[in-house]
Amino acid sequence: MARFFGKPWLPLPQTSVPIQQVAIIGAGIAGASLAQELALAGLDILIFEQTLVPATGASGNLAGNCLPIIDQRPDNPYAQWHWLAWQHAVHWWQQQPNREQLGQLTGAAKWSTHAKTQAGWQAWASRYEDSLVQWMDALPLPHQPAGLWFPQGGSFYPRRIVQHLLTHSNIQLYTQTLISQLAHTGQYWQLSSSQGLFQADAVIIASGAQTALTFPEWGSLLQLNKGQVSHLPATAWNSPPEFALSYGGYVATTPDGITCIGASFEQQAPLGLTDSAHLHNLALLNQAYPNALSSDTLPTQGHSAYRANTYDHLPLVGPVVDIEPYQAAIRARCHQPDTITDTSAHLLPQLWMSIGHGSHGLTSAFLAAQLIRQQLLNQPTELSLTLQQAVHPARAIFRQCCYPK
Ligand SMILES: Cc1cc2nc3c(=O)[nH]c(=O)nc-3n(C[C@H](O)[C@H](O)[C@H](O)COP(=O)(O)OP(=O)(O)OC[C@H]3O[C@@H](n4cnc5c(N)ncnc54)[C@H](O)[C@@H]3O)c2cc1C
Repeated sequence: MARFFGKPWLPLPQTSVPIQQVAIIGAGIAGASLAQELALAGLDILIFEQTLVPATGASGNLAGNCLPIIDQRPDNPYAQWHWLAWQHAVHWWQQQPNREQLGQLTGAAKWSTHAKTQAGWQAWASRYEDSLVQWMDALPLPHQPAGLWFPQGGSFYPRRIVQHLLTHSNIQLYTQTLISQLAHTGQYWQLSSSQGLFQADAVIIASGAQTALTFPEWGSLLQLNKGQVSHLPATAWNSPPEFALSYGGYVATTPDGITCIGASFEQQAPLGLTDSAHLHNLALLNQAYPNALSSDTLPTQGHSAYRANTYDHLPLVGPVVDIEPYQAAIRARCHQPDTITDTSAHLLPQLWMSIGHGSHGLTSAFLAAQLIRQQLLNQPTELSLTLQQAVHPARAIFRQCCYPK
């Protein structure tokens, strides 16, 4: 018997079949956080990565910001998801015995030079406890701009986090293994790869910006934006920042003395480091934090990758529908969606996804992993129905079918 979300066109299956082996496609932060979450729940995990090592795509940065999104609409699912995701990521970090190796959540400053933005942020911050966010008339910075101070914000080291997440003994990592096709036998999933066939009770797609390689219909729902971070040595600073900064661009410190500044945002640009993106990152920093750097030397190192964004800036997290029959079932009732009865028959058996984390995957991936574990194992979740619907992958298919541009 299927259990429904409040909206009948967004079905969630009741797990009746026992699950033991789960295959995850993609070893970035979305796949790796799922691997740890499910391994800790006692499942056996196979995780497949097409490249030589994990965390080479968007999760390949040395450091990034771990901060919430500021949104003035507290009841909006976008605002709620990203706020909860940040808190969940902070909690995850606090639980790790080797947390200093994985990030530095000991404070982050965020400011804007626009008076209107500042006023909005001040009002926003007043809703929360001081332990989470404070408005400060003078941030602890040499040039002392007013802005927000997040005592639990900071930098995450995604490459190290992914490696750490994959260390559980229930996890088997297959690198240089591109999953090219999936087929369900009626009992289990068969995965075809460059290294042969594999099988699993459940499969989770966590293939980030490369989703279109194997799942073109789902990949077509993602907009890819190239981002580049630049690496600065400690010597580049007049006084190196001791905490993470966010000002439109961002500064994230690493334990190796390198600071990542970023990140450029370019549509339809080829991957690879460019001087123009380095210049952009420097210009943002110089504008927000004059005289922070001791010289204007152009960085030569950094990392570039595609961010995979969705139309509503929320990730696609949850069970996967079989697109064609699902669309056929809803097309005639687009304008009366409440009259759609049962779409649960169009869910593919034990196929899940966590993609489209956009610019916020370092926080969003952890909450997504928890939600999928709860849905897959039919466990209670504290996330509201509205929020589960807001990230349901089928919402994007529904929109594409019923409200095409
Ligand atoms: C320059 C830049 C700066 C950023 N800064 C921040 C920040 O400060 N804070 C923040 O929260 N977020 C930041 N982000 C966003 C964040 O990095 C991403 O949201 C996150 O890394 C996405 O993780 P993912 O696992 O979904 O994708 P990825 O890390 O790209 O992982 C997907 C993996 O799947 C593999 N794969 C794909 N298809 C297959 C297949 N068929 N078979 C096998 N393997 C496959 C890929 O090789 C890849 O390794 C930034 C992104 C960029 C690009």
